Amino acid sequence: MKDETIAIHTGYTTDPTTKAVTAPIFQTVAYEFDDAQHGADLFNLAVPGNIYSRIMNPTCDVLEQRVAALEQGIGALAVSAGSAAVNYAILNIASAGDNIVSVPQLYGGTYTLFAHMLPKQGIEVRFAESDKAEDLEKLIDAKTKAIFMETIGNPAGNIVDLESVSAMAKSHGVVCIADNTVATPVLTKPATYGVDIIVHSLTKYIGGHGTTLGGLIVDSGKFPWTNHQDRYRDLNSPEESYHGVVYTEALGEAAYIGRARTVPLRNTGSALSPFNAFQLLQGLETLPLRMERHCDNALGVAKHLSDHAKVDWVSYAGLENHEHHELAKKYMGGNPSGILTFGVTGGYDNGVKFYDALKLFKRLVNIGDAKSLACHPASTTHRQLTEEEQTKVGVKPETIRLSVGIEHLEDIIEDLDQALSAV
Ligand SMILES: *Cc1c(COP(=O)(O)O)cnc(C)c1O
Repeated sequence: MKDETIAIHTGYTTDPTTKAVTAPIFQTVAYEFDDAQHGADLFNLAVPGNIYSRIMNPTCDVLEQRVAALEQGIGALAVSAGSAAVNYAILNIASAGDNIVSVPQLYGGTYTLFAHMLPKQGIEVRFAESDKAEDLEKLIDAKTKAIFMETIGNPAGNIVDLESVSAMAKSHGVVCIADNTVATPVLTKPATYGVDIIVHSLTKYIGGHGTTLGGLIVDSGKFPWTNHQDRYRDLNSPEESYHGVVYTEALGEAAYIGRARTVPLRNTGSALSPFNAFQLLQGLETLPLRMERHCDNALGVAKHLSDHAKVDWVSYAGLENHEHHELAKKYMGGNPSGILTFGVTGGYDNGVKFYDALKLFKRLVNIGDAKSLACHPASTTHRQLTEEEQTKVGVKPETIRLSVGIEHLEDIIEDLDQALSAV
């Protein structure tokens, strides 16, 4: 099926007992065993089935199947937020003494996790000079467990050359993890370009209404874990915390996503609530339609701002003058989502003046909502970073990040113009 159809149907068919056509909210913590043997079989991963909603839930399962299908993966794990998805995606294969290699252009929360929290747990994060394969490659060694990137960097707007990075990673036997939050599977499917693991903040475009937090990990099922026994010992050797199961033997191609559920999620509990899964499913139904409008509006805004006298620069890969325009064409048909950044003339102070004058755009730190949103990273999301760190992740003092919504383009532009006239 095509994306528009998957987004509405995959993972749920009319319930045979109640005839409910919409996936219900299974607001339950536990599930009854038929008998002791059934319980034992479930815990042995010998039969599929529900045990406890920290580990799995039927409403979350519909969402997992639907996003996995959109990403052309073999399975997914829904968690409480995108941040938990990023954390678990790494903790599932890395532990103290290991390292990961990351592109420098990252979501602020991910940067903080990588620069400050993971190192405290003994996992070193090596930031490359750029998002290019050759710069990432220089930092790989025997202890490298993953290459991490955002398909479209938030807020930098860079577009990673997925094929060249994943081919390089493959030649070293290292897993590629891509955060596909900004692009969504509607605009690009990283697994089809060789990326092994995809993470999402469902909070953004997939939910689309700004009502609900959620995150998700998708497994492409393609990484040959058993060919790299030394690097990925947690998947290839008996798991002490789960009565000696060897994930690659018990779950085959689903080893990674199965372990993510039964080790990091089961033991630390950032589970997605079934109510939130339900909300996210409502959003997901219209994702393909909304992405079309987000992209059209973002391009309209980018072109308009490019011609404005009070705007120094505009960065949107949908514009022909952007250094990643060719990559945007190759990986997302020239539609690099609804986020763009620009600089008001006059630096930090004028950036703030413009920001304060917005009326339709909401001043907040979120993206991907149906509503148009604006953020001044230097005073908010990236405030905890030093100016040097800000530059590294692609944030300047005057940078304004817009998440262009799906309102009428003329109304969006009118608001930007009146706010610029306040500068
Ligand atoms: C928002 C975001 C996250 C974190 O997601 P939460 O759901 O807010 O925890 C991770 N990556 C990217 C690219 C994001 O935009």
